[in-house]
Amino acid sequence: MYKKPKGTRDIFGLSINKWHKMENIAVDLAKQFNCSEIRTPTFEDSSLYLRSVGESSDIVTKEMYLFEDKAKRQMALRPEGTAGVVRAFIENGLQNQPLPQKYYYIGNNFRYENPQVGRYREFSQFGVECFGNESAWADVEMMQMCSLFVEKLGLKNTKLIINSIGCPNCRKLFNQALKEFAERNKDKLCEDCKTRTNKNPMRILDCKNENCQKILQNAPKLKDFLCNDCKNHFDMVKYGLEKIGVNFEVVENLVRGFDYYTKTVFEVVANNIDGKPLSIGGGGRYDNLVEEMGGMPTNCVGFAMGLDRIVLLLNEQNENIDVYLSNAGNVEISDIYLIANNLREQGFSVECNLTNKSLKKQFAFASKLGANFVCVLGDNEIKNKTITVKNLKTKQENQIELKSLVEYLKNNTN
Ligand code: AMP
Repeated sequence: MYKKPKGTRDIFGLSINKWHKMENIAVDLAKQFNCSEIRTPTFEDSSLYLRSVGESSDIVTKEMYLFEDKAKRQMALRPEGTAGVVRAFIENGLQNQPLPQKYYYIGNNFRYENPQVGRYREFSQFGVECFGNESAWADVEMMQMCSLFVEKLGLKNTKLIINSIGCPNCRKLFNQALKEFAERNKDKLCEDCKTRTNKNPMRILDCKNENCQKILQNAPKLKDFLCNDCKNHFDMVKYGLEKIGVNFEVVENLVRGFDYYTKTVFEVVANNIDGKPLSIGGGGRYDNLVEEMGGMPTNCVGFAMGLDRIVLLLNEQNENIDVYLSNAGNVEISDIYLIANNLREQGFSVECNLTNKSLKKQFAFASKLGANFVCVLGDNEIKNKTITVKNLKTKQENQIELKSLVEYLKNNTN
Protein backbone atom coordinates (compact mmCIF):
# COMPACT_ATOMS: atom_id res chain seq x y z
CA MET A 1 0.00 0.00 0.00
CA TYR A 2 1.26 3.48 -0.84
CA LYS A 3 1.76 5.97 1.96
CA LYS A 4 1.87 9.72 1.77
CA PRO A 5 5.33 11.29 1.92
CA LYS A 6 6.71 12.10 5.38
CA GLY A 7 5.61 15.52 6.63
CA THR A 8 2.53 15.74 4.37
CA ARG A 9 -1.15 15.27 5.24
CA ASP A 10 -4.47 14.36 3.67
CA ILE A 11 -7.11 16.89 4.67
CA PHE A 12 -10.79 15.95 4.60
CA GLY A 13 -13.90 15.62 6.77
CA LEU A 14 -14.43 18.17 9.52
CA SER A 15 -10.97 19.60 9.04
CA ILE A 16 -11.60 20.68 5.45
CA ASN A 17 -14.52 22.84 6.67
CA LYS A 18 -12.07 24.74 8.86
CA TRP A 19 -9.82 25.26 5.85
CA HIS A 20 -12.71 26.62 3.78
CA LYS A 21 -13.73 28.96 6.58
CA MET A 22 -10.18 30.17 7.04
CA GLU A 23 -9.66 30.72 3.32
CA ASN A 24 -12.96 32.63 3.03
CA ILE A 25 -12.02 34.89 5.94
CA ALA A 26 -8.59 35.49 4.36
CA VAL A 27 -10.10 36.43 0.99
CA ASP A 28 -12.72 38.75 2.54
CA LEU A 29 -10.10 40.44 4.68
CA ALA A 30 -7.75 40.89 1.72
CA LYS A 31 -10.57 42.51 -0.26
CA GLN A 32 -11.42 44.86 2.62
CA PHE A 33 -7.83 46.08 2.47
CA ASN A 34 -7.85 46.43 -1.33
CA CYS A 35 -5.46 43.55 -2.02
CA SER A 36 -5.87 41.68 -5.29
CA GLU A 37 -5.00 38.03 -5.68
CA ILE A 38 -1.77 36.85 -7.25
CA ARG A 39 -0.93 33.23 -8.12
CA THR A 40 2.68 32.37 -8.86
CA PRO A 41 4.29 29.04 -9.83
CA THR A 42 4.82 26.33 -7.22
CA PHE A 43 8.40 25.94 -8.43
CA GLU A 44 10.91 28.51 -9.56
CA ASP A 45 14.53 28.73 -10.53
CA SER A 46 16.34 27.81 -7.31
CA SER A 47 18.63 30.86 -7.58
CA LEU A 48 15.58 33.07 -6.96
CA TYR A 49 15.44 31.83 -3.36
CA LEU A 50 19.20 31.86 -2.90
CA ARG A 51 19.22 35.50 -3.88
CA SER A 52 16.21 36.62 -1.87
CA VAL A 53 15.79 34.41 1.19
CA GLY A 54 19.56 34.31 1.61
CA GLU A 55 22.38 31.84 1.15
CA SER A 56 22.96 31.46 4.88
CA SER A 57 19.30 31.04 5.87
CA ASP A 58 18.12 27.64 7.16
CA ILE A 59 15.58 27.51 4.36
CA VAL A 60 18.22 27.68 1.66
CA THR A 61 21.00 25.73 3.37
CA LYS A 62 18.91 22.88 4.75
CA GLU A 63 15.30 22.88 3.69
CA MET A 64 14.84 23.50 -0.02
CA TYR A 65 13.34 20.82 -2.23
CA LEU A 66 15.72 20.99 -5.17
CA PHE A 67 15.49 19.18 -8.45
CA GLU A 68 17.00 19.33 -11.87
CA ASP A 69 14.50 19.38 -14.72
CA LYS A 70 15.03 17.46 -17.94
CA ALA A 71 16.85 20.44 -19.46
CA LYS A 72 19.21 20.40 -16.46
CA ARG A 73 17.84 23.61 -14.94
CA GLN A 74 18.13 23.82 -11.13
CA MET A 75 14.61 24.24 -9.77
CA ALA A 76 13.20 24.53 -6.26
CA LEU A 77 9.74 23.91 -4.89
CA ARG A 78 8.46 27.15 -3.40
CA PRO A 79 9.66 27.41 0.24
CA GLU A 80 7.94 30.77 0.86
CA GLY A 81 5.73 33.20 -1.03
CA THR A 82 7.45 36.58 -1.15
CA ALA A 83 10.29 35.82 -3.58
CA GLY A 84 7.93 34.56 -6.31
CA VAL A 85 5.59 37.53 -5.91
CA VAL A 86 8.52 39.96 -6.15
CA ARG A 87 9.76 38.18 -9.27
CA ALA A 88 6.25 38.41 -10.78
CA PHE A 89 6.01 42.11 -9.84
CA ILE A 90 9.18 42.84 -11.81
CA GLU A 91 8.71 40.38 -14.69
CA ASN A 92 5.13 41.45 -15.45
CA GLY A 93 5.94 45.16 -15.43
CA LEU A 94 3.71 45.75 -12.40
CA GLN A 95 6.44 48.01 -11.06
CA ASN A 96 5.57 50.45 -13.87
CA GLN A 97 1.92 50.68 -12.76
CA PRO A 98 0.76 53.25 -10.19
CA LEU A 99 1.90 52.44 -6.66
CA PRO A 100 1.20 51.35 -4.00
CA GLN A 101 -0.13 47.94 -5.01
CA LYS A 102 -1.18 45.16 -2.67
CA TYR A 103 -1.35 41.48 -3.53
CA TYR A 104 -2.51 38.48 -1.55
CA TYR A 105 -2.00 34.78 -2.05
CA ILE A 106 -3.00 31.49 -0.51
CA GLY A 107 -0.65 28.72 -1.53
CA ASN A 108 1.38 25.70 -0.58
CA ASN A 109 5.05 25.84 0.35
CA PHE A 110 7.61 23.08 0.78
CA ARG A 111 10.42 22.85 3.29
CA TYR A 112 12.46 19.76 4.13
CA GLU A 113 12.08 20.14 7.91
CA ASN A 114 11.91 17.65 10.72
CA PRO A 115 8.19 16.91 10.80
CA GLN A 116 6.46 17.41 14.15
CA VAL A 117 3.16 18.83 15.34
CA GLY A 118 2.69 22.13 13.48
CA ARG A 119 5.79 21.63 11.33
CA TYR A 120 5.23 19.94 8.00
CA ARG A 121 7.10 19.51 4.74
CA GLU A 122 4.16 20.83 2.78
CA PHE A 123 2.22 23.67 4.38
CA SER A 124 -0.01 26.50 3.31
CA GLN A 125 0.23 30.24 3.87
CA PHE A 126 -2.04 33.23 3.45
CA GLY A 127 0.24 36.13 2.59
CA VAL A 128 0.04 39.78 1.58
CA GLU A 129 2.72 41.90 -0.08
CA CYS A 130 2.44 45.68 -0.30
CA PHE A 131 4.64 47.31 -2.98
CA GLY A 132 5.63 50.97 -3.17
CA ASN A 133 4.81 52.34 0.25
CA GLU A 134 7.54 53.60 2.55
CA SER A 135 5.20 54.85 5.26
CA ALA A 136 5.26 53.23 8.68
CA TRP A 137 1.47 53.14 8.30
CA ALA A 138 1.90 50.46 5.63
CA ASP A 139 3.67 48.30 8.23
CA VAL A 140 0.85 49.06 10.67
CA GLU A 141 -1.72 48.06 8.07
CA MET A 142 -0.03 44.69 7.50
CA MET A 143 0.14 43.99 11.21
CA GLN A 144 -3.47 45.02 11.67
CA MET A 145 -4.45 42.55 8.95
CA CYS A 146 -2.66 39.77 10.85
CA SER A 147 -4.43 40.74 14.08
CA LEU A 148 -7.82 40.94 12.39
CA PHE A 149 -7.31 37.59 10.67
CA VAL A 150 -6.63 35.90 13.97
CA GLU A 151 -9.51 37.75 15.64
CA LYS A 152 -12.03 36.88 12.91
CA LEU A 153 -11.07 33.23 13.22
CA GLY A 154 -11.77 33.40 16.94
CA LEU A 155 -8.25 32.31 17.83
CA LYS A 156 -7.44 33.04 21.45
CA ASN A 157 -4.17 33.63 23.32
CA THR A 158 -2.20 35.12 20.47
CA LYS A 159 0.14 38.07 20.50
CA LEU A 160 1.90 40.27 18.00
CA ILE A 161 5.62 40.68 18.65
CA ILE A 162 7.65 43.29 16.77
CA ASN A 163 11.18 44.57 16.38
CA SER A 164 13.29 46.65 14.02
CA ILE A 165 16.40 45.13 12.45
CA GLY A 166 17.34 48.43 10.81
CA CYS A 167 18.70 49.06 7.33
CA PRO A 168 21.95 47.54 5.93
CA ASN A 169 23.88 50.50 7.36
CA CYS A 170 22.79 50.01 10.96
CA ARG A 171 23.02 46.26 10.56
CA LYS A 172 26.66 46.40 9.44
CA LEU A 173 27.63 48.00 12.76
CA PHE A 174 25.40 45.67 14.73
CA ASN A 175 26.71 42.56 12.95
CA GLN A 176 30.26 43.62 13.75
CA ALA A 177 29.45 44.04 17.46
CA LEU A 178 27.54 40.76 17.53
CA LYS A 179 30.36 38.93 15.78
CA GLU A 180 32.81 40.17 18.41
CA PHE A 181 30.41 39.06 21.16
CA ALA A 182 29.99 35.63 19.52
CA GLU A 183 33.74 35.18 19.14
CA ARG A 184 34.24 35.98 22.82
CA ASN A 185 31.59 33.34 23.68
CA LYS A 186 32.31 30.84 20.92
CA ASP A 187 33.06 27.95 23.29
CA LYS A 188 29.52 28.19 24.68
CA LEU A 189 27.65 28.51 21.36
CA CYS A 190 26.35 25.61 19.26
CA GLU A 191 28.03 24.49 16.02
CA ASP A 192 25.39 26.21 13.85
CA CYS A 193 25.98 29.50 15.66
CA LYS A 194 29.73 29.20 15.13
CA THR A 195 29.09 28.95 11.37
CA ARG A 196 26.59 31.81 11.53
CA THR A 197 29.17 34.01 13.30
CA ASN A 198 31.21 34.13 10.11
CA LYS A 199 28.47 33.97 7.52
CA ASN A 200 25.69 36.12 8.96
CA PRO A 201 26.04 36.92 12.68
CA MET A 202 22.47 38.25 13.04
CA ARG A 203 21.14 34.71 12.36
CA ILE A 204 22.57 33.73 15.76
CA LEU A 205 19.71 35.58 17.43
CA ASP A 206 17.32 33.20 15.66
CA CYS A 207 18.94 30.07 17.13
CA LYS A 208 16.46 27.68 18.74
CA ASN A 209 19.07 26.21 21.11
CA GLU A 210 18.09 27.14 24.68
CA ASN A 211 21.67 27.40 25.81
CA CYS A 212 22.55 29.81 23.00
CA GLN A 213 19.44 31.84 23.82
CA LYS A 214 20.63 32.20 27.43
CA ILE A 215 24.04 33.45 26.34
CA LEU A 216 22.47 35.81 23.83
CA GLN A 217 20.57 37.61 26.56
CA ASN A 218 23.74 39.62 27.12
CA ALA A 219 24.44 40.17 23.42
CA PRO A 220 24.46 43.67 21.89
CA LYS A 221 20.94 44.95 21.19
CA LEU A 222 19.81 46.02 17.72
CA LYS A 223 17.95 49.02 19.09
CA ASP A 224 21.25 50.59 20.16
CA PHE A 225 22.51 50.48 16.56
CA LEU A 226 19.53 51.96 14.68
CA CYS A 227 20.19 55.07 12.60
CA ASN A 228 17.82 58.03 12.99
CA ASP A 229 15.70 57.09 9.99
CA CYS A 230 15.21 53.50 11.18
CA LYS A 231 14.57 54.62 14.74
CA ASN A 232 11.95 57.18 13.64
CA HIS A 233 10.28 54.61 11.42
CA PHE A 234 10.04 52.13 14.29
CA ASP A 235 8.68 54.83 16.63
CA MET A 236 6.01 55.64 14.04
CA VAL A 237 5.09 51.94 13.72
CA LYS A 238 4.61 51.68 17.49
CA TYR A 239 2.66 54.95 17.55
CA GLY A 240 0.38 53.76 14.71
CA LEU A 241 -0.33 50.42 16.34
CA GLU A 242 -1.16 52.12 19.63
CA LYS A 243 -3.33 54.69 17.88
CA ILE A 244 -5.52 52.06 16.19
CA GLY A 245 -5.58 49.77 19.21
CA VAL A 246 -3.53 46.80 17.96
CA ASN A 247 -1.78 45.18 20.92
CA PHE A 248 1.89 44.36 20.52
CA GLU A 249 5.06 43.60 22.42
CA VAL A 250 8.58 44.62 21.40
CA VAL A 251 10.93 41.60 21.43
CA GLU A 252 14.49 42.81 21.02
CA ASN A 253 15.97 39.54 19.73
CA LEU A 254 13.35 39.00 17.04
CA VAL A 255 15.14 38.88 13.67
CA ARG A 256 13.19 36.34 11.54
CA GLY A 257 14.74 33.77 9.24
CA PHE A 258 15.06 35.63 5.94
CA ASP A 259 17.85 37.90 4.80
CA TYR A 260 15.66 40.32 2.86
CA TYR A 261 14.05 42.12 5.78
CA THR A 262 14.85 45.75 6.62
CA LYS A 263 13.50 47.87 9.49
CA THR A 264 10.29 46.33 10.87
CA VAL A 265 9.95 42.61 11.51
CA PHE A 266 7.01 41.00 13.27
CA GLU A 267 5.54 37.67 14.22
CA VAL A 268 2.20 36.45 15.53
CA VAL A 269 2.67 33.85 18.25
CA ALA A 270 0.09 31.65 19.94
CA ASN A 271 0.23 29.49 23.02
CA ASN A 272 -0.29 25.92 21.86
CA ILE A 273 -1.68 23.09 23.92
CA ASP A 274 1.51 22.70 26.02
CA GLY A 275 1.56 26.43 26.69
CA LYS A 276 4.68 26.69 24.48
CA PRO A 277 4.74 29.63 22.07
CA LEU A 278 4.08 28.68 18.46
CA SER A 279 4.68 31.11 15.61
CA ILE A 280 1.59 31.28 13.43
CA GLY A 281 2.67 34.08 11.14
CA GLY A 282 5.35 36.58 10.41
CA GLY A 283 6.41 39.37 8.18
CA GLY A 284 8.29 42.57 7.80
CA ARG A 285 9.57 45.33 5.58
CA TYR A 286 11.89 44.54 2.67
CA ASP A 287 12.86 47.83 1.08
CA ASN A 288 15.81 46.54 -0.96
CA LEU A 289 14.58 43.22 -2.31
CA VAL A 290 12.90 44.41 -5.52
CA GLU A 291 16.01 46.29 -6.55
CA GLU A 292 18.32 43.43 -5.53
CA MET A 293 16.30 41.16 -7.80
CA GLY A 294 16.70 43.46 -10.79
CA GLY A 295 13.70 45.75 -10.36
CA MET A 296 13.37 49.43 -9.57
CA PRO A 297 13.91 50.60 -5.98
CA THR A 298 10.57 49.85 -4.30
CA ASN A 299 9.66 50.02 -0.62
CA CYS A 300 7.75 46.91 0.41
CA VAL A 301 6.22 45.26 3.43
CA GLY A 302 4.32 42.00 3.79
CA PHE A 303 3.39 39.01 5.92
CA ALA A 304 2.49 35.33 5.72
CA MET A 305 0.21 33.49 8.12
CA GLY A 306 0.69 29.72 8.48
CA LEU A 307 -2.71 28.16 7.91
CA ASP A 308 -1.80 24.62 9.05
CA ARG A 309 -0.83 25.79 12.52
CA ILE A 310 -3.93 27.95 12.77
CA VAL A 311 -6.15 24.95 11.95
CA LEU A 312 -4.32 22.94 14.55
CA LEU A 313 -5.05 25.57 17.19
CA LEU A 314 -8.66 25.94 16.06
CA ASN A 315 -9.07 22.18 16.44
CA GLU A 316 -7.75 22.34 19.99
CA GLN A 317 -9.90 25.33 20.81
CA ASN A 318 -13.17 24.18 19.33
CA GLU A 319 -13.00 20.70 20.71
CA ASN A 320 -15.98 21.23 22.97
CA ILE A 321 -19.52 22.17 22.21
CA ASP A 322 -21.38 24.04 24.93
CA VAL A 323 -24.56 22.03 25.22
CA TYR A 324 -26.02 18.70 24.21
CA LEU A 325 -29.82 18.65 24.45
CA SER A 326 -31.42 15.32 25.33
CA ASN A 327 -35.02 14.20 25.49
CA ALA A 328 -36.26 11.45 27.79
CA GLY A 329 -39.56 9.64 28.42
CA ASN A 330 -42.34 10.85 26.14
CA VAL A 331 -40.82 14.24 25.41
CA GLU A 332 -40.82 15.05 21.73
CA ILE A 333 -37.89 16.24 19.71
CA SER A 334 -39.76 19.43 18.80
CA ASP A 335 -39.67 20.44 22.49
CA ILE A 336 -35.91 20.17 22.80
CA TYR A 337 -35.39 21.54 19.29
CA LEU A 338 -37.04 24.83 20.30
CA ILE A 339 -34.79 25.07 23.35
CA ALA A 340 -31.77 24.39 21.13
CA ASN A 341 -32.85 27.19 18.79
CA ASN A 342 -33.09 29.60 21.67
CA LEU A 343 -29.64 28.64 23.00
CA ARG A 344 -28.07 28.95 19.54
CA GLU A 345 -29.59 32.43 19.19
CA GLN A 346 -27.90 33.29 22.49
CA GLY A 347 -24.55 32.28 21.02
CA PHE A 348 -24.12 28.79 22.48
CA SER A 349 -22.87 25.93 20.30
CA VAL A 350 -25.51 23.24 20.63
CA GLU A 351 -26.08 19.70 19.42
CA CYS A 352 -29.64 18.50 19.80
CA ASN A 353 -30.66 14.85 19.84
CA LEU A 354 -32.76 14.19 16.71
CA THR A 355 -32.83 10.40 17.05
CA ASN A 356 -34.70 7.88 19.17
CA LYS A 357 -31.53 6.85 21.03
CA SER A 358 -31.87 5.88 24.68
CA LEU A 359 -30.87 8.50 27.25
CA LYS A 360 -27.80 6.44 28.08
CA LYS A 361 -26.68 6.44 24.45
CA GLN A 362 -27.36 10.17 24.19
CA PHE A 363 -25.09 10.78 27.18
CA ALA A 364 -22.38 8.63 25.63
CA PHE A 365 -22.65 10.60 22.38
CA ALA A 366 -22.56 13.96 24.22
CA SER A 367 -19.48 12.84 26.04
CA LYS A 368 -17.83 11.83 22.76
CA LEU A 369 -18.59 15.28 21.35
CA GLY A 370 -16.94 16.82 24.40
CA ALA A 371 -20.08 18.73 25.42
CA ASN A 372 -19.67 20.90 28.51
CA PHE A 373 -23.30 20.41 29.58
CA VAL A 374 -26.04 17.90 28.87
CA CYS A 375 -29.54 19.33 29.35
CA VAL A 376 -32.27 16.73 29.76
CA LEU A 377 -35.96 17.39 29.23
CA GLY A 378 -38.10 14.51 30.53
CA ASP A 379 -41.76 14.13 31.53
CA ASN A 380 -41.08 15.40 35.03
CA GLU A 381 -39.25 18.45 33.76
CA ILE A 382 -42.10 19.29 31.34
CA LYS A 383 -44.63 19.03 34.18
CA ASN A 384 -42.59 21.31 36.47
CA LYS A 385 -41.39 23.69 33.71
CA THR A 386 -37.80 22.77 34.61
CA ILE A 387 -34.81 21.21 32.90
CA THR A 388 -32.01 19.04 34.28
CA VAL A 389 -28.52 20.32 33.57
CA LYS A 390 -25.49 18.09 34.05
CA ASN A 391 -21.98 19.46 33.89
CA LEU A 392 -20.02 16.64 32.23
CA LYS A 393 -16.71 17.77 33.72
CA THR A 394 -17.71 18.25 37.36
CA LYS A 395 -20.55 15.64 37.10
CA GLN A 396 -22.70 18.10 39.04
CA GLU A 397 -26.41 17.86 38.22
CA ASN A 398 -29.10 20.47 38.89
CA GLN A 399 -32.74 20.76 38.07
CA ILE A 400 -33.41 24.41 37.28
CA GLU A 401 -36.34 26.46 36.01
CA LEU A 402 -36.49 26.28 32.23
CA LYS A 403 -36.80 30.05 31.94
CA SER A 404 -33.48 30.57 33.73
CA LEU A 405 -31.52 28.09 31.57
CA VAL A 406 -29.66 30.72 29.52
CA GLU A 407 -28.66 32.63 32.62
CA TYR A 408 -27.59 29.44 34.39
CA LEU A 409 -25.40 28.33 31.46
CA LYS A 410 -23.86 31.80 31.12
CA ASN A 411 -23.04 31.90 34.83
CA ASN A 412 -21.55 28.45 34.82
CA THR A 413 -19.50 28.64 31.62
CA ASN A 414 -15.99 29.97 32.10
P1 AMP B 1 7.94 31.96 7.61
O1 AMP B 1 7.56 31.85 6.16
O2 AMP B 1 9.06 31.06 8.01
O3 AMP B 1 8.10 33.38 8.04
O4 AMP B 1 6.72 31.42 8.43
C1 AMP B 1 5.48 32.07 8.47
C2 AMP B 1 4.49 31.12 9.08
O5 AMP B 1 4.37 29.97 8.24
C3 AMP B 1 4.94 30.55 10.41
O6 AMP B 1 4.57 31.40 11.45
C4 AMP B 1 4.17 29.24 10.46
O7 AMP B 1 2.87 29.47 10.89
C5 AMP B 1 4.13 28.83 9.02
N1 AMP B 1 5.17 27.80 8.76
C6 AMP B 1 6.46 27.98 8.46
N2 AMP B 1 7.07 26.80 8.28
C7 AMP B 1 6.14 25.84 8.48
C8 AMP B 1 6.13 24.42 8.43
N3 AMP B 1 7.22 23.72 8.13
N4 AMP B 1 4.98 23.76 8.71
C9 AMP B 1 3.86 24.45 9.00
N5 AMP B 1 3.79 25.79 9.05
C10 AMP B 1 4.91 26.49 8.80
